[in-house]
Amino acid sequence: MLDSSNARRRKTILVAGGAGFVGSHLCDELLAAGNRVICVDSYLTSSPANVAPLQNHPHFTMIKHDICNPLKLNDHLDQIYNLACPASPPLYQADPIHTMMTSVSGTGNLLKLAARNNASFLQASTSEVYGDPEEHPQNEDYWGHVNCTGPRACYDEGKRAAEALCFDSLRAGDVDARVVRIFNTYGPRMQPNDGRIVSNLIVQALRDEPLTIYGDGAQTRSFCYVSDLVDGLVRLMNVQPNPAVPVNIGNPGEFTIAELADMVRSMLPTRSKVVNKPLPADDPQRRRPDIARARELLGWEPKVSLDEGLSRTIAWFQNTLLEQASPRSS
Ligand code: NAD
Ligand code: UDP
Repeated sequence: MLDSSNARRRKTILVAGGAGFVGSHLCDELLAAGNRVICVDSYLTSSPANVAPLQNHPHFTMIKHDICNPLKLNDHLDQIYNLACPASPPLYQADPIHTMMTSVSGTGNLLKLAARNNASFLQASTSEVYGDPEEHPQNEDYWGHVNCTGPRACYDEGKRAAEALCFDSLRAGDVDARVVRIFNTYGPRMQPNDGRIVSNLIVQALRDEPLTIYGDGAQTRSFCYVSDLVDGLVRLMNVQPNPAVPVNIGNPGEFTIAELADMVRSMLPTRSKVVNKPLPADDPQRRRPDIARARELLGWEPKVSLDEGLSRTIAWFQNTLLEQASPRSS
């Protein structure tokens, strides 16, 4: 029987990039809260397996589509989350022009869709807008230190342009646009071959392969567990009034890459040894979010420690790699 109060509260929410690592967790959360979710994804860097459990959900719709092309929908939308963009450096550098166009044309297309629907819009931006930062920790007033001609520019400058599009749409009164700057996030459903540090280290350790550390491993990152990020995204989308400023979401705990490799090794019975490989061009040396704004405007704090998040992620990869090694016969 249809619960009329639930039906009234139910929003129709488009999640672009909803089949990806973060997007699929966001879809789960939005559906669990009673919303209708339309997931738009080209599967460029994700697997349909991430959303396979949702395919029979009565309020879930999957549309395979590249956001670089305009999207026509008959449904009325209340909210749009734009997470569509490869996030792993080797993957976003594989087709850098498409990465840039995803952030620029793709975000532009979705903002037009939001304007037509009078829908609120949340753009997944990144700590990469700070580049290789000269200020530490990074707060949202820092303008960044980005090489606009290097191999990371397709991502960093694309995201900076997407932020500009959002704030111009907001100032013009066209779209209730919001911007989150996401710091390194990890958890279940990262692709085993994604190339980012957490998935690489765990998969290498589980396979007894060498743990690859680029450079001397003294560079730092701050790692946020995916459920904490999703909580921050939903809070920023729904907070009133629109803060009209970008908001950092990340875990302020800061670790060197060498420390992270030691943690992963200590949590698994692995024979893996560390090998050092060349540091990629423009690799940021330090990264830690100042989250005072998220605390104040959203009442947000990360809850999951790196130890706890890593053990949940390791358990998920153990199961996934086991299933891949011996797929169940249908
Ligand atoms: P992901 O690669 O797992 O997910 C991105 C999704 O977007 C994938 O499903 C991919 O197929 C889809 N996609 C890419 N280009 C597309 C296009 N042109 N049209 C339609 N779909 C497209 O990455 P993620 O870690 O889940 O990241 C999600 C978002 O959060 C990205 O926008 C990323 O830039 C941002 N972000 C993530 C992190 C992080 O550490 N995970 C950090 C900063 C920012
Ligand atoms: N990194 C590493 N070994 C790997 C993958 C990454 O040492 O197998 C390093 C990378 O050079 C960077 C850090 O780990 O200094 C985080 O890399 P990731 O690709 O996860 O994210 P980003 O550089 O975008 O923060």
